[in-house]
Amino acid sequence: MTVENEIAILGTGAMGAGIAQVAAIHGWSVRMIDCDPETAAKAKDGIGTRLQRQVEKGRISESEAGEAMVRLHIVQSDSELDSCEVLLEAIVEDMEIKTKAVAPLLDHLHSEAIIATNTSSLSVTELGQKLGCPSRVVGMHFFNPAPIMKLVEVIRGRETDPVVVDRIAEIASSWNKHVAVAADTPGFIVNRVARPYYLEAFRCMEDGLATADLIDETMRSLGGFRMGPFELTDFIGHDVNTATTRTVWDCWNRPTRLAPSLMQEQLVAEGRLGKKSGTGVYDWSTEPPSPTIHPSNEASTVPGFDMGSIMKMANQLDLKCQNPIQTIVFARILFAILNEALWAQHDGVAEAADIDTAMQYGVNYPIGPFKWMEDIGLDLVKETMKSLESMTGDGRFITPD
Ligand code: NAD
Repeated sequence: MTVENEIAILGTGAMGAGIAQVAAIHGWSVRMIDCDPETAAKAKDGIGTRLQRQVEKGRISESEAGEAMVRLHIVQSDSELDSCEVLLEAIVEDMEIKTKAVAPLLDHLHSEAIIATNTSSLSVTELGQKLGCPSRVVGMHFFNPAPIMKLVEVIRGRETDPVVVDRIAEIASSWNKHVAVAADTPGFIVNRVARPYYLEAFRCMEDGLATADLIDETMRSLGGFRMGPFELTDFIGHDVNTATTRTVWDCWNRPTRLAPSLMQEQLVAEGRLGKKSGTGVYDWSTEPPSPTIHPSNEASTVPGFDMGSIMKMANQLDLKCQNPIQTIVFARILFAILNEALWAQHDGVAEAADIDTAMQYGVNYPIGPFKWMEDIGLDLVKETMKSLESMTGDGRFITPD
């Protein structure tokens, strides 16, 4: 018999510890396992410290924090797993290591226990097949930091039992998370649909349209994004960001839309990784951080380009922008995201509503791409895409049929 509200978490690093905290505060008994017992102990202490901070801020009571801590158990013997309803693995991103670590635990789990994986990029279907129980294996993809980020992508492997998908979605909702269900495809929803936010911004700079700080400012003020694409990629790290781009681009058969940016790859080659290395697109030693890349052929206008549909779109969204270059930058980056959302839906990654939820809560977009298209009007979306395609000309604004 499995017990509802009992979960085992394998791997208590950044993600595992965060997820353990979320589960415990929502009343779940948590069995924490790590190959390094000191890491598990540190993770538990870290959760204690974070919960105490929540108490000091008045967000939870002293007794809620205390009760959550009592629900956290560091596993001493695998026999303690036999009543867990779910085993969630959050260990290193490597299929062989994940398989080797989870397989021996299957003997100690109930035959109906759900095996969830927090993988960001590996195939849930393949993990299920390697473990020999594909119907019980499902993705439960939290975002970092798990206690703060509001999204869980629930990944349906090709052979995952729909009952398992529904149960994991139900658990994530009961932990106060928004749920987006996605097919087991490269990048799932967020890591795919967000790519153009970074890539098209680099292309705008490569084309000499605007400087990094103007592009960032444009996306914050006209788009309502919390961070501009360059401050965000400097924050994420260009090495991490380009690695995800390459994986998603490769796995989706290298469409032009998702092609890596030469300028960004150059930054990585030069060790300019962003905030963590001191410089990236910006030099972080100055206040405010100053752009390190100066587009050589700064264009003040785009010759021969008909702005008609872009201006209509700007009016429709009530953008109130006097600078045509900013309007073009905004249109290019926003419409590149909208087009990726259309392709993701077309490729069967997820339904429109799930894509909207994922982008709003996984990367804090002000509204989801499909709601944005509704606000603009679908005919005008098509017209603007055609216009942008005629401006850029390499097929990246061509929409699915
Ligand atoms: P991490 O390196 O912080 O933690 C991994 C933990 O797993 C470590 O404590 C390590 O000791 C433990 N571990 C490694 N091999 C093990 C084994 N064989 N048995 C038991 N424990 C083992 O990694 P992380 O950032 O928490 O990432 C974990 C997973 O979550 C990965 O699949 C990653 O892709 C995914 N993920 C990470 C993020 C992120 O931003 N860090 C976001 C979403 C998903």
